[in-house]
Amino acid sequence: GSNVDKASFKKLIPVVTYEDVKPDIDRIASGDTSPILCSQPISEFLTSSGTSAGERKLMPTIDEELDRKSHLYSLIMPVMNQFLPNLQNGKGMYFLFVKSESKTPSGLPARPVLTSYYKSRHFARARAANDPYTNYTSPTETILCNDTHQSMYSQLLCGLVLRHEVLRVGAVFASGFIRAIKFFENNWTSLCKDVRNGTVDHRIVTDPVVRLAVSRVLVGPNPGLADFLERECRRDDTGIIPRVWSNCKYIDVIVTGAMSQYIPAIDHYGGGSLPLVCSMYASSECYFGLNLNPLCNPDEVLYTLVPTMAYFEFLPVDRFVEKADHDDDGDCDDDNYGEIKLVDLVDVKLGQEYELVVTTYAGLYRYRVGDVLRVGGFKNKAPQFTFVCRKNVVLSIDSDKTDEVELQTAVTRAAVQHLAPLGASLVEYTSYAETSNVPGHYVLFWEIDNGVMIERSSSTVSESCLAVEEGLNSVYRQGRVWDSSIGPLEIRVVESGTFDAIMDHAVTELGASINQYKTPRCVKRGPIFEMLNSRVVSSHFSPRLPKWAP
Ligand code: AMP
Repeated sequence: GSNVDKASFKKLIPVVTYEDVKPDIDRIASGDTSPILCSQPISEFLTSSGTSAGERKLMPTIDEELDRKSHLYSLIMPVMNQFLPNLQNGKGMYFLFVKSESKTPSGLPARPVLTSYYKSRHFARARAANDPYTNYTSPTETILCNDTHQSMYSQLLCGLVLRHEVLRVGAVFASGFIRAIKFFENNWTSLCKDVRNGTVDHRIVTDPVVRLAVSRVLVGPNPGLADFLERECRRDDTGIIPRVWSNCKYIDVIVTGAMSQYIPAIDHYGGGSLPLVCSMYASSECYFGLNLNPLCNPDEVLYTLVPTMAYFEFLPVDRFVEKADHDDDGDCDDDNYGEIKLVDLVDVKLGQEYELVVTTYAGLYRYRVGDVLRVGGFKNKAPQFTFVCRKNVVLSIDSDKTDEVELQTAVTRAAVQHLAPLGASLVEYTSYAETSNVPGHYVLFWEIDNGVMIERSSSTVSESCLAVEEGLNSVYRQGRVWDSSIGPLEIRVVESGTFDAIMDHAVTELGASINQYKTPRCVKRGPIFEMLNSRVVSSHFSPRLPKWAP
């Protein structure tokens, strides 16, 4: 009920995770329309990139949440205009895509939050009203096109033709932006031909609705622009964005959290001169807040939570203090919060890290989002947060988020399936997100016992790559199969003794205690990564796509 006071709320309502509410969510998904979580009808499910038992989480939502999302979007341009005036006089070239959607047994749509928004009347209304935020070079038809390839080509063609009007470029996440620019680098000859002739290549863009929308943007043959573009594309140089879109003032992509691995690649395309702007922080559960100082450096980004989006509470976490129990891995997977009091938004302390807990209008009560935030400052009295990490996630290339347990299960199964029959076994492993190529891919470093057997059967390790992929969650497999946003998984077999050498390094160089030493399940660029690579015996890739169904 709405009259419950705060103290009773805090006393009576338990703090939950997805697993706790899953039975209720499953009931709604299978057609129970009684007010289980929320007094208002659940209008659809938003499919989160977080997973439960290998499948996407389903987040309930209600119609009025779209108003709240629109409200947050409506704040972004006024904030930007404080720093870069007159953005309303031009357009944004944003690469926006919808993803596949399905229906629950009860007939409610289940789709990603942005797909829901782009298909909403709110988005259509904003575009029709020439709202400056949605003043994109891409016609809505190109955004709603289900075929990523056609969609990307069409959006690029429009962005090229309208290049003088473009004041900002972007995508939601850095990975998507890089893919689009890479696509441009690989397809510029066709694009330039279309610019030259004022046509839309019918071999690439077949959807008649999309063709019509794009042809309205093209205003006839433009050989001058085509000559210019061909010249710029032939130059093998950095800064393709400012060279082609010379009025562009910034690149709008999220590069906080896991996406920070893409900063060098984005800077390459931006020529180092264009600021990277992380404008907002949001999720399928609800939208959270925005960056009030958007031109700051990516590593200084602070998000200000907007208190009308949800009721926010904060679970203090200490990632570096050892727990009394077995939890010695230094991360934040401490579920023993029974004694700990949750803190309100007005009570968070500068410098402290918290796990975000939300109570949403759509029926999630005291729900742990799984993000760890640190208070980095205040705007007047509003706390501002650094995004620290997503709990437990070890690998991420695009919207996939693979946690340590999922990786462990997939690796163990693959080893049992493919190494054990040959009398070999996996001694140790770790992982790395390789993002220097497009698309990025997962790399596993495997130390194999009785490796001689393996060398004789060269397909063993590549089949193991595929077996790992088959064992990873559906978001990963969708990235491989449907979006092609993740490349084939790679296993690099390392010499025996490699992981002992890494332990010695951790103990002598980094002062780790030998009793508590645990092999890191994921490594970043640095000395350990170098040690691994210098001991690689052979490298193998997944030979085929894993199975995936929407
Ligand atoms: P999803 O539910 O699939 O939309 O994913 C939401 C999650 O994406 C959040 O809980 C964060 O972990 C991550 N995320 C969203 N926005 C940002 C951001 N601005 N910076 C870092 N991570 C973000």
